[in-house]
Amino acid sequence: MIKAFADKIAWLGHDGFRIDAEKTIYVDPYQIEGGPVADLILITHEHFDHCSPEDIAKIQGPETVIVTEKDSAKKLTGDVRVVKPGETLDLGNVKIKAVPSYNTDTDFHPKKNGWLGFIVETEGLKVYHAGDADFIPEMKDFEVDIALLPVSGTYVMTADQAVKAALAINPKVAIPMHYGAIVGDEQDALNFKKALEGKVEVSILKKA
Ligand code: ZN
Ligand code: ZN
Repeated sequence: MIKAFADKIAWLGHDGFRIDAEKTIYVDPYQIEGGPVADLILITHEHFDHCSPEDIAKIQGPETVIVTEKDSAKKLTGDVRVVKPGETLDLGNVKIKAVPSYNTDTDFHPKKNGWLGFIVETEGLKVYHAGDADFIPEMKDFEVDIALLPVSGTYVMTADQAVKAALAINPKVAIPMHYGAIVGDEQDALNFKKALEGKVEVSILKKA
Protein backbone atom coordinates (compact mmCIF):
# COMPACT_ATOMS: atom_id res chain seq x y z
CA MET A 1 0.00 0.00 0.00
CA ILE A 2 2.76 2.38 0.98
CA LYS A 3 4.71 1.58 -2.17
CA ALA A 4 1.69 2.11 -4.41
CA PHE A 5 1.01 5.40 -2.70
CA ALA A 6 4.64 6.55 -2.78
CA ASP A 7 4.50 6.08 -6.55
CA LYS A 8 1.83 8.79 -6.65
CA ILE A 9 4.32 11.34 -5.35
CA ALA A 10 6.26 13.21 -8.04
CA TRP A 11 9.26 15.36 -7.19
CA LEU A 12 9.23 18.55 -9.26
CA GLY A 13 12.70 19.67 -8.13
CA HIS A 14 13.84 21.59 -5.04
CA ASP A 15 10.91 21.48 -2.54
CA GLY A 16 8.21 21.03 -5.17
CA PHE A 17 6.00 17.95 -5.18
CA ARG A 18 2.81 16.79 -6.80
CA ILE A 19 0.68 14.15 -5.10
CA ASP A 20 -1.65 12.46 -7.58
CA ALA A 21 -4.20 11.13 -5.09
CA GLU A 22 -7.98 11.53 -5.14
CA LYS A 23 -7.15 15.18 -5.48
CA THR A 24 -4.22 16.70 -7.34
CA ILE A 25 -2.10 18.33 -4.66
CA TYR A 26 1.02 20.44 -5.16
CA VAL A 27 3.47 21.66 -2.55
CA ASP A 28 5.84 24.59 -3.23
CA PRO A 29 5.92 24.37 -7.05
CA TYR A 30 9.06 26.12 -8.31
CA GLN A 31 10.59 26.23 -11.80
CA ILE A 32 7.98 23.81 -13.10
CA GLU A 33 6.93 23.48 -16.72
CA GLY A 34 3.25 23.07 -15.93
CA GLY A 35 1.13 20.01 -15.16
CA PRO A 36 -2.39 18.90 -14.34
CA VAL A 37 -4.57 21.62 -12.82
CA ALA A 38 -4.30 21.64 -9.04
CA ASP A 39 -7.20 20.95 -6.69
CA LEU A 40 -4.98 22.07 -3.87
CA ILE A 41 -1.70 23.98 -3.62
CA LEU A 42 0.18 24.12 -0.33
CA ILE A 43 2.78 26.88 0.11
CA THR A 44 5.10 26.61 3.10
CA HIS A 45 6.45 30.19 3.26
CA GLU A 46 7.07 33.33 1.26
CA HIS A 47 10.66 32.77 0.06
CA PHE A 48 10.81 32.96 -3.73
CA ASP A 49 11.86 29.35 -4.16
CA HIS A 50 8.76 28.18 -2.26
CA CYS A 51 6.11 30.81 -2.98
CA SER A 52 6.43 31.42 -6.73
CA PRO A 53 3.32 33.17 -8.14
CA GLU A 54 4.65 32.59 -11.67
CA ASP A 55 4.79 28.82 -11.16
CA ILE A 56 1.52 28.70 -9.24
CA ALA A 57 -0.18 30.41 -12.20
CA LYS A 58 0.81 27.47 -14.42
CA ILE A 59 -1.31 24.99 -12.44
CA GLN A 60 -3.95 27.16 -10.77
CA GLY A 61 -7.54 26.83 -12.02
CA PRO A 62 -10.76 28.57 -11.01
CA GLU A 63 -11.51 25.88 -8.38
CA THR A 64 -7.99 25.58 -6.97
CA VAL A 65 -7.67 26.05 -3.21
CA ILE A 66 -4.37 27.45 -1.93
CA VAL A 67 -3.40 26.86 1.69
CA THR A 68 -0.57 28.94 3.10
CA GLU A 69 0.61 31.41 5.74
CA LYS A 70 -0.10 35.16 5.88
CA ASP A 71 3.09 36.42 4.13
CA SER A 72 2.71 34.19 1.07
CA ALA A 73 -1.02 34.97 0.93
CA LYS A 74 -0.19 38.62 0.14
CA LYS A 75 1.50 37.53 -3.10
CA LEU A 76 -1.28 35.22 -4.29
CA THR A 77 -4.77 35.48 -5.73
CA GLY A 78 -7.75 33.16 -5.91
CA ASP A 79 -9.17 30.97 -3.13
CA VAL A 80 -6.34 31.48 -0.63
CA ARG A 81 -6.81 30.09 2.90
CA VAL A 82 -4.43 31.35 5.56
CA VAL A 83 -3.54 28.93 8.34
CA LYS A 84 -1.27 28.98 11.36
CA PRO A 85 0.87 26.14 12.72
CA GLY A 86 -1.39 23.76 14.63
CA GLU A 87 -4.49 24.46 12.57
CA THR A 88 -6.23 21.85 10.48
CA LEU A 89 -8.34 22.06 7.37
CA ASP A 90 -10.81 19.40 6.30
CA LEU A 91 -11.33 19.38 2.55
CA GLY A 92 -13.37 16.19 2.35
CA ASN A 93 -11.08 13.44 1.09
CA VAL A 94 -7.98 15.47 2.01
CA LYS A 95 -7.14 16.64 5.50
CA ILE A 96 -4.39 19.19 6.01
CA LYS A 97 -2.59 19.87 9.25
CA ALA A 98 -0.33 22.92 9.30
CA VAL A 99 2.71 22.33 11.51
CA PRO A 100 5.59 24.56 12.65
CA SER A 101 8.64 24.93 10.40
CA TYR A 102 11.61 27.01 11.51
CA ASN A 103 15.36 27.19 12.09
CA THR A 104 16.97 26.46 15.42
CA ASP A 105 20.55 27.21 14.28
CA THR A 106 20.01 30.30 12.08
CA ASP A 107 17.56 33.18 11.59
CA PHE A 108 16.48 32.49 8.01
CA HIS A 109 13.17 31.07 9.18
CA PRO A 110 12.27 32.43 12.63
CA LYS A 111 9.67 30.50 14.58
CA LYS A 112 7.71 33.69 15.23
CA ASN A 113 6.95 34.06 11.50
CA GLY A 114 4.51 31.20 11.72
CA TRP A 115 5.73 29.62 8.49
CA LEU A 116 4.62 26.12 7.72
CA GLY A 117 5.19 22.47 7.19
CA PHE A 118 2.20 20.32 6.23
CA ILE A 119 0.85 16.90 7.09
CA VAL A 120 -1.44 15.84 4.27
CA GLU A 121 -3.77 12.95 4.97
CA THR A 122 -5.35 11.30 1.96
CA GLU A 123 -6.23 7.75 0.92
CA GLY A 124 -5.56 6.65 4.51
CA LEU A 125 -1.91 7.78 4.56
CA LYS A 126 -0.13 10.81 5.94
CA VAL A 127 2.57 12.68 4.02
CA TYR A 128 4.69 15.23 5.88
CA HIS A 129 6.39 18.08 3.99
CA ALA A 130 8.80 19.80 6.39
CA GLY A 131 9.14 23.16 4.62
CA ASP A 132 12.40 25.00 5.38
CA ALA A 133 13.21 23.63 8.80
CA ASP A 134 15.99 22.40 10.99
CA PHE A 135 15.48 19.30 13.12
CA ILE A 136 12.83 20.78 15.43
CA PRO A 137 11.47 19.10 18.56
CA GLU A 138 7.91 18.96 17.20
CA MET A 139 9.02 16.34 14.67
CA LYS A 140 9.26 13.69 17.40
CA ASP A 141 5.49 13.86 17.83
CA PHE A 142 4.55 13.51 14.18
CA GLU A 143 3.04 10.20 13.16
CA VAL A 144 3.38 10.07 9.42
CA ASP A 145 3.87 7.43 6.74
CA ILE A 146 6.00 9.41 4.30
CA ALA A 147 8.33 12.27 5.29
CA LEU A 148 9.71 14.79 2.79
CA LEU A 149 12.80 16.23 4.45
CA PRO A 150 15.29 18.91 3.38
CA VAL A 151 18.93 17.83 3.24
CA SER A 152 20.93 20.71 1.73
CA GLY A 153 22.11 22.57 4.82
CA THR A 154 22.56 26.41 4.79
CA TYR A 155 18.89 27.47 5.10
CA VAL A 156 17.64 24.10 6.33
CA MET A 157 18.89 20.88 7.88
CA THR A 158 22.09 19.29 6.66
CA ALA A 159 21.91 15.68 5.54
CA ASP A 160 23.30 14.63 8.95
CA GLN A 161 20.60 16.54 10.80
CA ALA A 162 17.98 15.17 8.43
CA VAL A 163 19.12 11.66 9.38
CA LYS A 164 18.39 12.48 13.03
CA ALA A 165 15.03 13.93 12.06
CA ALA A 166 14.14 10.84 10.03
CA LEU A 167 15.05 8.57 12.96
CA ALA A 168 12.90 10.68 15.31
CA ILE A 169 9.93 10.72 12.93
CA ASN A 170 10.41 7.10 11.86
CA PRO A 171 8.25 7.20 8.73
CA LYS A 172 7.75 4.18 6.49
CA VAL A 173 9.49 6.09 3.70
CA ALA A 174 11.63 9.24 3.77
CA ILE A 175 12.20 11.31 0.64
CA PRO A 176 15.02 13.90 0.55
CA MET A 177 14.31 17.34 -0.91
CA HIS A 178 15.71 20.90 -1.05
CA TYR A 179 18.72 20.13 -3.24
CA GLY A 180 19.61 20.50 -6.88
CA ALA A 181 18.36 24.09 -7.33
CA ILE A 182 19.50 26.75 -4.86
CA VAL A 183 21.78 24.88 -2.49
CA GLY A 184 22.74 21.25 -2.06
CA ASP A 185 23.22 18.52 -4.64
CA GLU A 186 22.45 14.86 -5.13
CA GLN A 187 25.36 13.87 -2.93
CA ASP A 188 23.42 15.23 0.06
CA ALA A 189 20.51 12.94 -0.83
CA LEU A 190 22.86 9.97 -1.25
CA ASN A 191 24.52 10.65 2.12
CA PHE A 192 21.09 10.82 3.72
CA LYS A 193 20.10 7.49 2.22
CA LYS A 194 23.34 5.76 3.13
CA ALA A 195 23.24 6.86 6.77
CA LEU A 196 19.69 5.51 7.13
CA GLU A 197 20.39 2.12 5.55
CA GLY A 198 18.64 -0.63 7.52
CA LYS A 199 16.83 1.97 9.66
CA VAL A 200 14.48 4.03 7.51
CA GLU A 201 13.69 3.34 3.88
CA VAL A 202 14.79 6.27 1.76
CA SER A 203 13.51 6.88 -1.75
CA ILE A 204 15.48 9.34 -3.87
CA LEU A 205 13.11 10.54 -6.55
CA LYS A 206 14.10 11.45 -10.07
CA LYS A 207 12.92 14.90 -11.03
CA ALA A 208 9.62 14.54 -12.84
ZN1 ZN B 1 13.02 29.60 2.98
ZN1 ZN C 1 14.20 26.95 0.86
